[in-house]
Amino acid sequence: MRTVVSSGNVLDTASMSFVGERDVVIDDGIIVEVVDRYEGSSDIVVDAGGKFVVPGLIDGHVHFRLATMDFRRIASMSEVEFGIRMSTLARQTVERGFTTVRDLGGDVSGLIRAISRGVASGPRILRAGRMLTQTGGHADTEGGERAVPSCACSMRSTVFGIVADGPDAVRKAARHNLRDGSDFLKLHVSGGVATPSDPLESVQYTHEEICAAVVEAEHRQTYVSAHAYSPESIKLAVGAGVHTIEHGNLLDDESAKAIAANNAVMVPTLVTYDAMEEEGEKLGLPKTNRDKNTKVFKAGLASLEIARRNGVTLGFGTDLIGETQIRQNHEFALRHEVEPAVDILRSMWETTAKLCHLEGRIGAIAPNAFGDIVVSRVNPLDDLVGFSNPATAFSHVIQHGRVVVDR
Ligand SMILES: [Zn+2]
Repeated sequence: MRTVVSSGNVLDTASMSFVGERDVVIDDGIIVEVVDRYEGSSDIVVDAGGKFVVPGLIDGHVHFRLATMDFRRIASMSEVEFGIRMSTLARQTVERGFTTVRDLGGDVSGLIRAISRGVASGPRILRAGRMLTQTGGHADTEGGERAVPSCACSMRSTVFGIVADGPDAVRKAARHNLRDGSDFLKLHVSGGVATPSDPLESVQYTHEEICAAVVEAEHRQTYVSAHAYSPESIKLAVGAGVHTIEHGNLLDDESAKAIAANNAVMVPTLVTYDAMEEEGEKLGLPKTNRDKNTKVFKAGLASLEIARRNGVTLGFGTDLIGETQIRQNHEFALRHEVEPAVDILRSMWETTAKLCHLEGRIGAIAPNAFGDIVVSRVNPLDDLVGFSNPATAFSHVIQHGRVVVDR
């Protein structure tokens, strides 16, 4: 099947500039040429005249498995309800222009299979699989109210995470995930907002435990990502070979320098804290979690400025949970408060494409890239805030050469 996106002003993401009116020719889902005027045959023509043609968007931090913000309810959710909710989230993600995502934790293998079989629609998903965490860590969903531990073994798991203590258990958990198709690994090395019993400042895992996961990832030509807020946890992670720091809200100059010195990447996710601040209570987020959120929310924008002045490479992600995923594109507007549009777009189409191991195949409109395209009425380089409203900005979303949104 041949699709031609005709007469739009095409973005060259290498120079991050619009090159003028071009026709983009997509054969069987792959871009084959970008030419001044295409005169051959085609099955589908999308008229992009007067509009801006950009690559499909990439979200470097999503969680389809965290299908609702009401964590009390999630514990009793059936796999059927998970499936219905996850497929809705996945379809809406593409409708907002995101054709590739990196899923940072929770079992989404069934969703990926459903999308590949055409039963569900959704983006291309690169996944961490279940998140690795220590007992009492940020993916340990058991609260602190149990009189007797449910288990004293070194590993136990849920659909969200694997609780693994000690280098051997971490190694085994890492191998489980890699065997089951994880594209990279995810560890929790500091406290987080969404769990009951780990303070934000807590440092989780030891150097030896993190190293065990890093070795397993490197043996599979991939990397470890780590959820981390505090300077101590960030320094611990990058010192042990972790490649991406997710969130990084409580970053200081010293920990920023450590990220840069280790050629690691930070993936900020400002919009999720904004969403939890505004909607958490209404959606059932417990008070202890809301109090934690206020603290990281306030530090978010400052962490970006600290990262930038210390030369930290930034990726692009959102980390929105369940119902709040509708705010996904608002991350552009939030970051634009401290960053130029061109830097934010590069963090997505260049850095995050690399984190997906898909350089040249996503984040580019050029031969051999996937035919994933957004046709926008708004020039993102001039008006990134306007670009952050997909319902008004995007006229078409094209995935693998198929038109999935036509507004
Ligand atoms: Zn996350």
